[in-house]
Amino acid sequence: PSVKFIEKLTDNEKRDFLNSFDLVFCDCDGVIWHNLYDIIPGASDAIQYLRDNGKKVVFVTNNSISSTKDQLRKFSTSNIPVEEQDLIHPAKTISDFLKDQDFKGLILCFASSAFKQHLRDSGFDVVEECFTFPSQQKERLIDGSVMDLHKAIYNKDPVKAVVIDIDFNLTAWKLMRAQVLLKNPECLFIAGAADPRIPFGGHELLGPGAFMYIVEEANQRKAKVFGKPGAELGELLKSSFQIKDPKRVLMVGDSLRSDIQFGKECGFQTLLVLTGAVEEKHLESQQLNELNSPDYVIEKLADLKNLI
Ligand code: PLP
Ligand code: CA
Repeated sequence: PSVKFIEKLTDNEKRDFLNSFDLVFCDCDGVIWHNLYDIIPGASDAIQYLRDNGKKVVFVTNNSISSTKDQLRKFSTSNIPVEEQDLIHPAKTISDFLKDQDFKGLILCFASSAFKQHLRDSGFDVVEECFTFPSQQKERLIDGSVMDLHKAIYNKDPVKAVVIDIDFNLTAWKLMRAQVLLKNPECLFIAGAADPRIPFGGHELLGPGAFMYIVEEANQRKAKVFGKPGAELGELLKSSFQIKDPKRVLMVGDSLRSDIQFGKECGFQTLLVLTGAVEEKHLESQQLNELNSPDYVIEKLADLKNLI
């Protein structure tokens, strides 16, 4: 599939592009900064330029490792004013969904402390369990008693929802616990960030999507996904921001799966920036297909400012 480089458009085409959207969903890591730390030069001016041209900009990140407060502080020190309701991340979308459902019950949550705190601050009970595998059990397991393992994982907690985001202390034991709970069809199965890979210090490391997939496969059951690229997130964004015509929305991001394919599945226009997960050379490779080819490509967000 062919992609359009913004810089190669004629002045008229650039103007048409700028007039073709009212709302921008902007990814953060790889577009605005790297690892919530190194701001990408010119990002602040580019956001201001969009706003000066009458666009509403909403930030949609899969990062719930940092709290809303810390992320807003980072925006503020990066000279990008952002209202709390215009920063969307999985801990928030999941809390909003659960509130909307009038959810009651315990939540087993594999995520960062900030994520769990967000759920608690929203009025939910998150189980804090110690998941060390008792050595006695381990020995019995080696003896071949699978039933003992089952008993050890299963207890009678009224856990009514399992939430999977990124948990740096995830173990096979925890995943088994989730799997057993999710055999109950009434227990909700929810995922936040579902990236198969996430960026860390210039590397792409295994992301929580892989762990969600393990549990999905084990139980032959799909999670509701409230981070990118989840369909449930798309629906939530469309209703929260009262989107009537998805074509008037521009999704900007650096990830082919989490931003571009997600944006296309939602019916949005898509703009890929090359300051993150994808380099220009990948654009010619087989990585691109019908599902994930962006409508437009730009080297860095800052270049938007020189559009017209
Ligand atoms: N996915 C996870 C689980 C993360 O924690 C992060 C960043 O910390 C990201 C993805 C990347 O965030 P973004 O969606 O802003 O690119
Ligand atoms: Ca990103």
